Amino acid sequence: MTTITGNEHGQDFESRVNELGRELLSRVKPERLIALTPAWWQERLMGWASADPQFRVKLLRFVDVLPSLKTSQAIADHVRQYFRDDGRAPIRLGTGLAGRGVLRPVLSRVVREGVVTMADRFIGGSGPDEALPRLRRLTGDGIGYTIDLLGEAILSEREADVYLERYLALIDTIATGAPTGTSNVAKPNISVKLTALTSHFEPAAPEATCEAVKRRLLPLLRRARERGVFVNVDMEQYRFKDATHVTFADVMLSPEFRDWDGAGIVVQAYLKDATHDIDHLHQLARRRNIPMTVRLVKGAYWDEEVVLAAQEDRDPPVFEEKAATDANFEHCVGLLVAAHPLLRPAFGTHNPRSIAVALAETEAAGLPVGAIEFQMLYGMAEGLRKAIHSMGYQTRVYIPAGEILPGMAYLVRRLLENTSNESWMMHRHEEGDPAELLARPWPSGPEPREVRAFTNEPPAEFNLPQVRTAMDHAIAEVRDRFGGYHPLLLAGAGVETGAWDVVTYPGDPQAVIGWVARATTGSADEAVLNARQAFPAWRGRGATDRAAILRRAAALLSERRLEFAAIEIFESGKTWAEADSDVCEAIDYLRYYALQAERLQGQPVDLGVPGEDNQLLYEGRGVAAVIAPWNFPLAIICGMSSAALAAGCTAILKPAEQSPIIASYFTRLLHEAGVPGGVVQYLPGPGEEAGQHLVEHPGVDLIAFTGSNAVGRSIMEAASIVRPGQRNIKRVVAELGGKNAIIVDDDADLDQAVSGVVASAFGYAGQKCSACSRVVVVEGAYEEFRSRLGAAVQSCVVGPPHDPYTQVPPVVSAEARARIEGYLALGEAEGTMVARTRVNGAGHVVAPHVFENISRDSRLAREEIFGPVLLLFRAHDFEDALDIAMDSDFALTGGLFSRNPRNIAHARREFRVGNLYINRRITGAIVGRQPFGGLRMSGIGDKAGGPDYLLQFMVPRVVTENTMRRGFAAE
Ligand code: NDP
Repeated sequence: MTTITGNEHGQDFESRVNELGRELLSRVKPERLIALTPAWWQERLMGWASADPQFRVKLLRFVDVLPSLKTSQAIADHVRQYFRDDGRAPIRLGTGLAGRGVLRPVLSRVVREGVVTMADRFIGGSGPDEALPRLRRLTGDGIGYTIDLLGEAILSEREADVYLERYLALIDTIATGAPTGTSNVAKPNISVKLTALTSHFEPAAPEATCEAVKRRLLPLLRRARERGVFVNVDMEQYRFKDATHVTFADVMLSPEFRDWDGAGIVVQAYLKDATHDIDHLHQLARRRNIPMTVRLVKGAYWDEEVVLAAQEDRDPPVFEEKAATDANFEHCVGLLVAAHPLLRPAFGTHNPRSIAVALAETEAAGLPVGAIEFQMLYGMAEGLRKAIHSMGYQTRVYIPAGEILPGMAYLVRRLLENTSNESWMMHRHEEGDPAELLARPWPSGPEPREVRAFTNEPPAEFNLPQVRTAMDHAIAEVRDRFGGYHPLLLAGAGVETGAWDVVTYPGDPQAVIGWVARATTGSADEAVLNARQAFPAWRGRGATDRAAILRRAAALLSERRLEFAAIEIFESGKTWAEADSDVCEAIDYLRYYALQAERLQGQPVDLGVPGEDNQLLYEGRGVAAVIAPWNFPLAIICGMSSAALAAGCTAILKPAEQSPIIASYFTRLLHEAGVPGGVVQYLPGPGEEAGQHLVEHPGVDLIAFTGSNAVGRSIMEAASIVRPGQRNIKRVVAELGGKNAIIVDDDADLDQAVSGVVASAFGYAGQKCSACSRVVVVEGAYEEFRSRLGAAVQSCVVGPPHDPYTQVPPVVSAEARARIEGYLALGEAEGTMVARTRVNGAGHVVAPHVFENISRDSRLAREEIFGPVLLLFRAHDFEDALDIAMDSDFALTGGLFSRNPRNIAHARREFRVGNLYINRRITGAIVGRQPFGGLRMSGIGDKAGGPDYLLQFMVPRVVTENTMRRGFAAE
């Protein structure tokens, strides 16, 4: 798959590439800029940005926030905050002006105009009409164009409808307004991103996504065909690629469009599997036997792909070395030229060497000049484009159109490309050394990956077909096991008690997943006895030995991760991604606590005192009762029990009534990995009986509890009573509920804020301790945020968890639904409904709701609802927002969307919650990266998944030996 051979030819070909390249470069006419003109200023800014990465970040961030700044005061304030420390004279002048009230309007006008002028260089116009004169000029000069509409991220079906309307209008405008020539390149041409045609483009469900996209893509294609407009499908981030191809192929093979040659698609050469994409498109073209245009580009999402892969501890889908991408581009050029005429190559590059290779390949294959075209971004490398044009080749510019300020995201990306160190485009070719510019790219091979002591299990890539197929199999297999029986597991043996509790599927309550033995107080006594007996040997094994067993369990779980995820889908109603991330978290805990236990293993404490040896030891507290909730059915029970086991405790697992089956599988997996039967036992049963009995049992030394505040406090109370036969004071580890708020500042990126709030509030139907249940919006952003949020919530896809297209699943049980519906009635009585999702699904479905005008003192605003209910509050300013957000008994998670450095710094200090997230969703803490746990009524424990967590399961002992005997001290 990973072919980076570059072009396949020998020295003669190289010589020809060189000749053609030199000819090309000799035709590039240098552009001379007149000092102090806007273009000159842009060049300076870009020059500074290229030379100074910090300035570059500041500049780009400023350009990004500018559209949201409504007043001159806001602009001046941001100028000062972003550039205050900059030493450059013109910048100093600007920040100086920003500090003077009377001059702020002037500064704000200059800044806006400056950015608009800069954007004007890359953006064709604010709409199709405005772009028309430029398009006419281009076609008049024999240059083709493809026009793309800029806009915000599409977060709702309403926004997707508006986007489609804009595209239809674009097609009509350019079909009537822009002149068309006879040549292919002069035909009206648009580029479209499929993710913008639906509010839910789901990589895990390409078929459903295809249907959703087609609802708007088909009318668009029909209009384009009717009006003689060519449609090019752009390629976006890697995770969207497969669904984009599925949709494209589906449409292209449909009877309606099978014989249409008016559509094309993109291949990105920075992808390691780009050649596979060309093969796939070639096959598609063969099946249709109609030519299809393929634009070969290097790819515009390199930074994002690399950063996301690094965050997930996986190899990126893109080449990390620029030379490898360049070489792969050359290889792909050869494949495309060989696939002509079924594939019509269009080369999108600003790199003289890549262009020269395309010219040489075309020539070597004996293709006419008109067989290929070159595409360049509008406003970039104009000299180079003219040079290619002068050599007789067709050229086309990719020209975005749309409101300048909202189109800033696009502009920022363009600027990034222009100024990044490993720039894809060297736009000043006239200044470069031809030998260097035309040198053959020689990738030196990927850098070896750093081996780290702990890495997180990467999430499953459901965007890949083979992973989806494996998940489908896992789901089918787990379905086949429905109705199984799960006894208690005491000292390694299955124990039945005569009473069985049924577990059903929240997505279809008639479906019985399995039967689980109900523990009695007698079985709890037996479990404690076994655990006490097993404890000394387990403690004595030492951390290294225990860690090895836990790592073996992690490896086993990793092998069976999809099976475990499938169990969660049915037992707990988790969606694919949520189930998968819960299993990943469980694997992480096993590995992380193994490592922490080794770290804490008895290290002699050397205090530098002669004649004395001091040793500080940590060892397991004893028997741990692990009492877990259902909402992270594997991760939490695994986290608490693996911490106990790593620390040297024995553990009795009491799962929640709603999720006992996954815990049974997990206990057996631990046994398989080598944890002795008495060291980890499985004791399902009602909390008030088996759970409470464990809590009160004199033989239990520690209770690791995660669950509701009420139960947590009752456990602490019960654990404080010393009972006959009890030797230890019980330690309680308690992680409790939340009532979490997100603040949306008036300069927030609303694309990010709306999607972040929707994910935080409605992921897993809001049944997360970390979920957002209150969103506090600063006045200036309120109306727009409310409107976009409302539309996004109406567009949420509610459905059964086993369907990968589902965004919001049913809640866990009929009781949970009844309880949440009580809160909904209260919301309707006390406040105003902003939005509600339409639902018609089976199972315990509760529609996501948003309310406003709710009093801060209402039960709705104060109690944990644990369902898909969100309250919206309006704040006068940032301080007020913080005050509302902190007005809660709970303090588990919190969030802030802001681009104001001062407010971000203020929130870091004063938004005192256990886990504060800035400019991202507030759910999904990752072991080791976001140690997790709350303050106030949200918990008393140390952070789960953090370096201190294990200490709670341990007792420290210090042994001091006097090593001086009769006056002699050992060294
Ligand atoms: P519950 O508090 O109802 O139950 C948690 C566990 O405690 C269950 O196993 C339950 O058993 C058991 N239990 C109930 N009563 C007793 C008792 N008297 N003595 C001993 N054990 C008892 O919580 P949920 O399972 O409904 O989980 C949701 C709650 O958990 C929410 O409040 C959520 O915020 C919180 N949570 C907190 C997290 C954090 O990290 N801070 C993470 C995840 C959830 P049974 O099911 O048999 O009743």
